[in-house]
Amino acid sequence: MSRAGAPSARADLHTHTTASDGLLSPAQLVSLARQRGLSVIGITDHDTVEGVAEVLTIPSSGLLVVAGVELSCSLGGVDVHLLGYGFDIAASGLSALLVERADERRSRAEAIVERLGSLGAAVTMDRVMTLAGSGTIGRPHIARALVEAGHSTGVGDAFERYLGTGRPAYVERPVLLPGRAIREIHAAGGSAVLAHPLYSEGYGDFLPGLAESGLDGLEVVYPDHTADTRRSLSSLASRYDLIETGGTDFHGDFGRTGKGLGETTVSLAVVEQLAARASQRRSIGRGA
Ligand code: AMP
Ligand code: FE
Ligand code: FE
Ligand code: ZN
Repeated sequence: MSRAGAPSARADLHTHTTASDGLLSPAQLVSLARQRGLSVIGITDHDTVEGVAEVLTIPSSGLLVVAGVELSCSLGGVDVHLLGYGFDIAASGLSALLVERADERRSRAEAIVERLGSLGAAVTMDRVMTLAGSGTIGRPHIARALVEAGHSTGVGDAFERYLGTGRPAYVERPVLLPGRAIREIHAAGGSAVLAHPLYSEGYGDFLPGLAESGLDGLEVVYPDHTADTRRSLSSLASRYDLIETGGTDFHGDFGRTGKGLGETTVSLAVVEQLAARASQRRSIGRGA
């Protein structure tokens, strides 16, 4: 039997719940994580910490839940997703940013639904909101509505046909610069990590700038990453002194990563490195 702290302890630091576009509730995710024998999960919903807050009310013996969030940023027209870890979920600056981003998600969804109507692929905002439940609205909810209405054969097809970047129903969100996201995560006492770098074209070019802005880590372990990719990301991480994190980006369905919870993990040491980095920064901040 392994236990948290043992060399075999495994951490999946990138997961989504019904608080954003995942299909499992926070309680279901925690229970699946236990079944899979994980020691740590990071809950990283898009623009919300509601899932983390909910889990804090569940007795979670044997499983450490790291508070996380995923912020969709944009840099020079490229989507850049930043993960925040180990911050105070009640911090006022970050909370205000999350409320702002969640509101923008809703307006964007309304604009997308309107476009879909004019493209002959009507879905109702009511249905999209029902699918999103109490969580932040994302394109996956609209994709599911498109599938239900028979306009797409699957979520992937809905992105390809309508919702993906540059597709006919694609609507941009107001830009959040990664520098601001990093500052807010740091101000809330956490660490900031660049998510799935391969989804951001030209990441090698902007990574030095992000490191300069205080980026703490790079998501090296990810379902789509081959051994070669991991090696090259790992050497970038060393060059810019970034912590090598990882996880599955689990959404509870067979989205574009198509991997199940806990299939790509990192060791518990990574969680300790993230916490140490944040705590070091907090003590420097106090001294300044
Ligand atoms: P949004 O947060 O509304 O911009 O939507 C982005 C989310 O959609 C991502 O977090 C993924 O969960 C999902 N997604 C993005 N691209 C695809 C795709 N090609 N197929 C399926 N899901 C996708
Ligand atoms: Fe997502
Ligand atoms: Fe992402
Ligand atoms: Zn994600």
